[in-house]
Amino acid sequence: MKCLICQAASKTGQAAQDWTEVDCPAGCGRYKVSANLVARMKFRNECFDIERTRQWLEMSRNDDPVPLISTYDYNVSLLRCDTEEKSVTAPIRSRQSLTSD
Ligand SMILES: [Zn+2]
Repeated sequence: MKCLICQAASKTGQAAQDWTEVDCPAGCGRYKVSANLVARMKFRNECFDIERTRQWLEMSRNDDPVPLISTYDYNVSLLRCDTEEKSVTAPIRSRQSLTSD
């Protein structure tokens, strides 16, 4: 399978009901991704921010040599890539609230 972070061709390690292990030779190393997160990313067509996710994995390896990326970590550590942030629009002010002019 492809690495879920950088899309390099990778080995799939163990797979459990709740997570899949990936061994990426391109720099991400070994990690696990929760099945919920994989499903969510496919459904919403999201991807990982490669740099941030690799940093997160490096930090997490202090505790666990094969860290598990859960949906919680993905949200809290902001591991999603921000390709969509270009379309962020400024808040639209309601004209009705500006009655003082
Ligand atoms: Zn990778």
